[in-house]
Amino acid sequence: MADTFDLVIIGAGPGGYTGAIRAAQLGLKTAVVEMAPTLGGTCLNVGCIPSKALLDSSEHFHAARAELGEHGVKVGSVVLDLPTMMQRKDKIVSDLTGGIAYLFKKNKIIHFQGKGRLVDGNTVEVIDGKSTVPVKAKNVMLATGSVPNELPFMPFDGERIVSSTDALRFGLVPKHLVVVGGGVIGLELGSVWKRLGAEVTIIEFTSKICGGMDSKMSKRLQQILAKQGMNFIMEAKVIGADVTPEGATVHYESLKDGSAHDLVADKVLVATGRRPFADGLGLAEAGVNRDPQGRVEVNQHFQTSVPSVYAIGDLIRGPMLAHKAEEEGVAVAEIVAGKPGHVNYDTVPGVIYTWPEFASVGKTEDELTDAGVEYKVGSFPFSANGRAKALASTDGMVKILADTKTDKVLGVHILGPRASDMIAEAVVAMEFSASSEDIARSFHAHPTLAEVMREAALAVDGRARQM
Ligand code: FAD
Repeated sequence: MADTFDLVIIGAGPGGYTGAIRAAQLGLKTAVVEMAPTLGGTCLNVGCIPSKALLDSSEHFHAARAELGEHGVKVGSVVLDLPTMMQRKDKIVSDLTGGIAYLFKKNKIIHFQGKGRLVDGNTVEVIDGKSTVPVKAKNVMLATGSVPNELPFMPFDGERIVSSTDALRFGLVPKHLVVVGGGVIGLELGSVWKRLGAEVTIIEFTSKICGGMDSKMSKRLQQILAKQGMNFIMEAKVIGADVTPEGATVHYESLKDGSAHDLVADKVLVATGRRPFADGLGLAEAGVNRDPQGRVEVNQHFQTSVPSVYAIGDLIRGPMLAHKAEEEGVAVAEIVAGKPGHVNYDTVPGVIYTWPEFASVGKTEDELTDAGVEYKVGSFPFSANGRAKALASTDGMVKILADTKTDKVLGVHILGPRASDMIAEAVVAMEFSASSEDIARSFHAHPTLAEVMREAALAVDGRARQM
């Protein structure tokens, strides 16, 4: 194609496709190069969406087996139909990835299927196996995302030593699933398989699950998950695994006393994080710099060391989250269109979709203490909330941290039912630089889980009420 595009995006994950749509809305002639057969990237195909579909389905299964009786709903024997659960998940994924293809057509975004390689600041080659097509661009956005980290001493084999992608499509419920890494992905997929009947053991290197999380809530979430039957081996280092036709024996060392242990599993999920993916992207040849962690280096306008080449999402610094990638994709489209694109990194929410869920935005107490910031704390438990009682989901609390002098909200941490939806209020409040008093004085419909947010805000000023 002889045309020169205003913007060529490599990678159609949430960063790339959202950026493409914004660019098209702004009148930019836009193309996207994607090597996978479907659009949507990690998030839609093997990340956020399929994992949440399985979390929701497995929650229903667990509720039918263990919780409906409490509501006076008697069901007979509850049987898992795993193929139907997986088909439902796959249908959600194909509906959504098809939706992106529709949006591309609607917005006149040109889609090149093939592997993109940066030749120079204004040329991308599209390699589709049979041919190599050069595509000319005034600007390029790199949005190639990330892939699961592999442990060099126990590489993925797709059968016994598996990645998150494999753990979204097991054909049978494992008898014993060992999860290496007590982070978000390990806890979410561990929850899915635990609810469906597997024994699940998490082996975590540090003394805390989900490292950056509010310390007390991390401890509480671990207690709740342990009560649900999940096993935790903390402060332990996995050093290898022997794979057999029946399963795998995982070897680990305790960091507390140096003792060596073995654990027999039929599946081992390695969930020790993800690495930025730039294999074969031609970065070094094109002069695009990367940092020691392999992330593409960008300035505050997402420009790489080649000024016409931008990078966003999991490929660059910052939390590896779909909504962070989306906002960066939009910001780059706006910058390329001559507008002041911007991302506020102080208000990026993070969510763990266990039950109860955990969601947070802003600073933790540990971070404020380390930074020497004086703050007030207001917290309120779900156990005193009418709606949480009606739902029979009363574990957890909301904690609001506000500046001692100005009362500005600095951080909100929620462990509780539907924390993922509740955190949106805190994000908007912080985006508008709200004080805890602003939240406390705002109407919150009764009876709702959101009232716990208001009570926590009132508690910052020592005046929470009992409901
Ligand atoms: P990606 O989504 O990784 O997309 C990159 C795309 O680029 C891919 O489609 C890839 O095929 C393509 N590509 C790569 N190289 C090339 C090339 N050279 N040429 C052409 N195409 C190329 N985040 C959340 O916010 N919430 C969640 O609940 C959540 N759950 C998750 C659950 C799991 C199991 C996993 C694995 C991740 C989860 N994430 C979640 C993280 C989220 O998926 C990522 O942060 C997000 O997808 C990153 O978006 P991206 O656009 O940067 O890259």
